This record gives sequence, structure tokens and C-alpha cells, in this order.
Amino acid sequence: MSELPGHHFLQIPGPSPVPDRVLRAIGAPVIDHRGPEFAQLCKEVLEGCRHVFKTSGPVIIYPSSGTGAWEAAIVNTLSPGDRVLMVETGHFAVMWREMATRWGIEVDFIPGDWRHGADPSAIEAKLAEDRSHAFKAVMIVHNETSTGVTSRISDIRKAMGRIGHPALLLVDAISSLGSIDYQHDEWGVDVSISCSQKGLMLPPGLGLTAISDKAHAASKSNKMPRSYWDWGQMLKSNSTGFFPYTPATNMLYGLREAIAIFLEEGLDAVFARHQRLAAATRAAVRAWGLEILCREPTEYSSVLTAVLMPPGHDSDRFREIVLDTYNMSLGTGLGKLAGKAFRIGHLGACNDLVLMGALTGIEMGLALAGVPHRPRGVEAAREYLTNGYREPSTPELTVAQRL
Ligand code: PLP
Repeated sequence: MSELPGHHFLQIPGPSPVPDRVLRAIGAPVIDHRGPEFAQLCKEVLEGCRHVFKTSGPVIIYPSSGTGAWEAAIVNTLSPGDRVLMVETGHFAVMWREMATRWGIEVDFIPGDWRHGADPSAIEAKLAEDRSHAFKAVMIVHNETSTGVTSRISDIRKAMGRIGHPALLLVDAISSLGSIDYQHDEWGVDVSISCSQKGLMLPPGLGLTAISDKAHAASKSNKMPRSYWDWGQMLKSNSTGFFPYTPATNMLYGLREAIAIFLEEGLDAVFARHQRLAAATRAAVRAWGLEILCREPTEYSSVLTAVLMPPGHDSDRFREIVLDTYNMSLGTGLGKLAGKAFRIGHLGACNDLVLMGALTGIEMGLALAGVPHRPRGVEAAREYLTNGYREPSTPELTVAQRL
């Protein structure tokens, strides 16, 4: 395939495009990871991560993908044979369950339709039956990247609190951190798991974990063997500014820069921008006459929108046409959604014009692929974005009258 001119539109829900500032920071010369310059960098990024997770407790950064941080959460808090409660929100919940099962954990999986988030009352009912407190953890995917559905973590913790169940709350915040408001301390989460290549606007390569006192205490008595993933070793080295092994030095430069960008824009402004872009995307999808996978408006994801294809139309064929013709990558349908849905990523450094370009590419792609739709989505998104900025008409009139 010959290369198409211009820049590639990476509109998958992570990895997300990396800002030039972050790329330049990553390109700095490699330093001694046992020297004073590294110790300073380590302290700065750990402090910055605490800000992003909204926690005053420890944060651990592994040179790994998010899956590594998942594994670390399991092996540091649970013991073989432990029972946990999980909810089938989508493909990533299924994968996390498989991993836990491989580690000898017994998983109760509340079934789901992949169109709704984890239901706090279903979790409450399950835990209420568990009088002997056999469940050691509740494990939830916050933003299900396969479906574009965001679960209500704070409501889940409140439900656990209402019945006084002592299970740990482990949350996959892999595609929410840095894009959707996330409050590790305030929500009472015990382990929050994330990674570099989504809202944090870095390339893949870092797995992040925020840990509560209760989870830390559990890690001192649980019975799962581990070495590379051991929180204890990591926290001991981190307290002096170092790692127990060679860290991903240059990725940490990138992380420091990404956090600086967050602080400049302000976390709340970052979340509001994501919400706005997501709402504009949904306006486009509705105007096309296509179906948004997420069924519950309070659970719409601001990170991505998953769109169902009309019957008889293959989403991967459509994605292929968009890639070959317009140089844009859209997210594939994962697991049971393969061929049936595509995903539009609008996270990280995305802005109005990038989104409008992406939606234009989708609208043109739908026409090329012969997918039945109304060619009004781009217009609907533009309308939404423009109206969002427009001042109310009354003050304008006042100015005109004074003239
Ligand atoms: N959990 C969620 C919600 C994800 O979106 C992903 C990846 O997209 C993962 C887990 C796995 O993370 P990684 O691919 O970084 O190992």
C-alpha cells in the first residue's frame, strides 16, 4: 500500500496521539537511573501521578502495559482460592476475569449485556448474601473501552458501604484516568489501575497503580507468589527516589511533561473538554441514524463512542475503507462485537477540529462503504460545538443598542 499524504488520524480509544511536547521530552538523552537527576525525576512524577489519581497515598509505576498493573493488583492483594466479585461490562472485564481465574481466584461474574455499566444495586445484592464475607474483592472496569460505557464507581463503593462489606475495591481506570474525573481517595477505591497510552497521552509502556492503606496492608499478608510485581520492593526503592530495577527512564520524562500539560489546562477543564467532544460525537451518530452502543445516558463515556453497524454491514470492512482512503484508524469491535461495531476515540489531546476531521472521514467512509445513513452527522456535531461556544444573544443585543 502506498503511503497517503498528510498526518494519520489515530482515532482509536488508545493508544491516543502523543503531543509533540511529550515526544520531545521522551527524546531527551538517557540518564543514569541510579543518579541524583533520576531521583528528582522519580519524585516529581510520583507526586504528579498522585495529583492525577487524586490520592495522597502511594502510586507505583511499572515499565509495563496496563495488563501488567492488573496482574500486580491481583498478586499483591489476593491469595489462591480467594473469591471475588466482577461484572461483565464488556471485553476487558472478561479478560480481567480470565487473568484472575488463571491465578487460582474464584470469580463470581455478574452477567451483563455489554451496553450497561456495573449496576451498584446488583453488586449490593450479591454482597448482602455473602454473610461470611467470602468475597475478598470487588473488581470493576471503570471505563469499558470495548463498549464506551462508564460505570459509577462512587455509587458502587457507597453500595458496598451500606452493607458494611469489607471487600477491597479494585478498579481498572486504564482508559478513564486523565480523561474522566477519577477520585481514588474520595471514592474509597483500594487499587486503581491505569497505563500511559490513553488519557495520559504517552506511548504504551507504563502501567500505573494507586494503592490505599487497606490494600497495602493486604499486600503484607496475602499468599500469592510474586517478584517483579511486588509492591513492597517497589515502594521501598521509590521512597529513596529509585526503582528496584531499570525503569523506563525516557517514558518518565514524557510522563512529567504530560502531567505539566494537565496542570496547565487544569484537570476539570480536561474532563469538560472530553465531555463536550463526546457529546458532539453522539450528536453526529444520532444524525447519521446509527445506534450508540451505550444504552444509559448517565453511563456515556467521554473517552470513546462505540457505534453499532446496521445489519448486514461489517464494521471491519468499513474501518478498512476509512483507513485506506482517508488515512484514519478507528477502533475495531472487540470480542463479541467483532464485525458489529466500530469505536471512535476522542480522548487525550483531541480538540474540536481534530474531532470534526475524524467525523468527516467517518461520514465520507459510510457513503463509500454503502452503509445506510443520513449525511448530516458532521453538521450536527459542528452545530453542537458552535452552540456550545456561542454567547447568549441578549448581551450582544445590548451592545448593538448602545451603538
Ligand atoms: N483494561 C482496559 C479498560 C483497556 O482499555 C485495556 C486496553 O485497551 C486494558 C485493560 C489492557 O491494557 P494494555 O493493553 O495496556 O495491557
